[in-house]
Amino acid sequence: MGLAKNVQCNKCDKNWTHYEGSGFQHEIYYCDKCGKQKYYEIFNSCPNLWEQYHFYTEKWKSENENKENLFLEKQLISIDKKIKRHKIKVIGVCDCGGKYEINGDIVCPNCHSKDVNNNGYCLLWD
Ligand SMILES: [Zn+2]
Ligand SMILES: [Zn+2]
Repeated sequence: MGLAKNVQCNKCDKNWTHYEGSGFQHEIYYCDKCGKQKYYEIFNSCPNLWEQYHFYTEKWKSENENKENLFLEKQLISIDKKIKRHKIKVIGVCDCGGKYEINGDIVCPNCHSKDVNNNGYCLLWD
């Protein structure tokens, strides 16, 4: 569950909605230098990997969850690693050289100041 905040820049007065955290379907990243937003769709960006992941999870469940099953566990761990690696590749770095972060400082997308007021109303998103 993510948080949507109404933010105002103290320098240039720009008003915008900042999304924090991650939802079930996607995550929203922001560049730590220029404030550019990057939207990451968790399942849609690598459906094949998720398909494999679900396949092995179901298999694991059906074969007795409580029993140790090293083969299936290894498969799941390896797919999980692939998903994470894929995500890093997809998110990449910003054109400005900044890093995309999920819960970093809020940067004004207009003047790039970090002097912002984020006490505006909040709402939850998924
Ligand atoms: Zn940037
Ligand atoms: Zn600003």
